[in-house]
Amino acid sequence: MAEYKGILVCGELADEKLASITTELLGCGRKLANSLQEDLSCLLASDAIGEASKEAIAFGADKVYAVEHPALKEYQADFYMQAIEKLVKEISPRTILMGQTFMGRDLAPRLAFRLGTSLATDCLDLSIDPETKLLIQTRPVYGGNAQAIFTSELVPQVVTVRTKAMSPLDRDDSRKGEVVPTKIDIDTSKVMTKILETVKEEAVGIKLEDAPVIVCGGRGMGGPEPFKTTLKALADLLHSAVGSSRPPVDNGWVAESLHIGLTGKIVAPDIYIAIAVSGSSQHIAGCSGSKHLIAINKDPEANIFREAEFGVLGKYEEVVPAFTNKLKELLAG
Ligand SMILES: Cc1cc2nc3c(=O)[nH]c(=O)nc-3n(C[C@H](O)[C@H](O)[C@H](O)COP(=O)(O)OP(=O)(O)OC[C@H]3O[C@@H](n4cnc5c(N)ncnc54)[C@H](O)[C@@H]3O)c2cc1C
Repeated sequence: MAEYKGILVCGELADEKLASITTELLGCGRKLANSLQEDLSCLLASDAIGEASKEAIAFGADKVYAVEHPALKEYQADFYMQAIEKLVKEISPRTILMGQTFMGRDLAPRLAFRLGTSLATDCLDLSIDPETKLLIQTRPVYGGNAQAIFTSELVPQVVTVRTKAMSPLDRDDSRKGEVVPTKIDIDTSKVMTKILETVKEEAVGIKLEDAPVIVCGGRGMGGPEPFKTTLKALADLLHSAVGSSRPPVDNGWVAESLHIGLTGKIVAPDIYIAIAVSGSSQHIAGCSGSKHLIAINKDPEANIFREAEFGVLGKYEEVVPAFTNKLKELLAG
């Protein structure tokens, strides 16, 4: 039987650079590898990896397996699965970390099934039990209302980690590591899906995931107009992004890309201003990593006030324009 050792991060690239989730996974993987006194490896698979291998070392990897193949140009489960499965069987890592992203959500269950092992998705924290060396996994349950901590004796373990749940290490270009160009034969006939077209979401202004400040509107905004006027005026002044709870998206008031929460985006800005949002557990699941949460709501009983650090009780139609004007004054002064 293979001896399972080390941590493997399945990396993702964005425009030939490491995607932010990969730097977060490397930060978490480094902590786990140090506890085990074992190596941290990173798999990068693409048609062109460029400088991303060196970047992965600068963010904590000891070894980078760089798999370049024309079939890996775009994410395609049938091809990526072959690369990951072959590498995992060759190097036998103890734990395989993926992001709770489009790619990770798709690949992790397939990989766990093929390896006949366990899978824990959407983990918020990971650590090593010093006695048993087992992986301790913390993940949300009951729609984010509670967190469960558990472990599994099966190896290897496949885990997906929520975006923004872990912090990357500071980039250190003087870190030493090994890049292993890895040749993996990919059988392109084994394809069950075909990508016909890739449509890039048009980015207007700051992306929600990268914004240091988010101004989020809820159902209480009453319609699409206040998102374009009242919220946008405040967001522009703060160089921030506008987000939304689920009902405005479901009602077609705003684009799906603004959706924050359990079934939307997970964000962790410095400041999150929730306006006319009641604070359901499903919404909080998407913004609980924010450093400071400010709520504006007309209902003193709204749950959002229990979650927020600062609360303003009042109608947004009065509070937000007054706040925006005061900010303008302060910034001008
Ligand atoms: C499986 C599942 C997944 C879900 N996923 C998500 C998710 O990812 N994200 C998400 O957001 N929801 C999600 N939901 C829905 C969630 O349960 C709530 O219904 C939703 O978050 C409520 O959105 P809201 O706070 O905008 O609306 P409401 O709960 O209707 O709250 C509106 C708030 O606006 C206030 N308000 C009204 N008028 C004004 C005014 N003039 N000025 C100030 N305040 C005012 C009200 O007092 C109220 O507190 C999910 C639900 C399920 C079952």
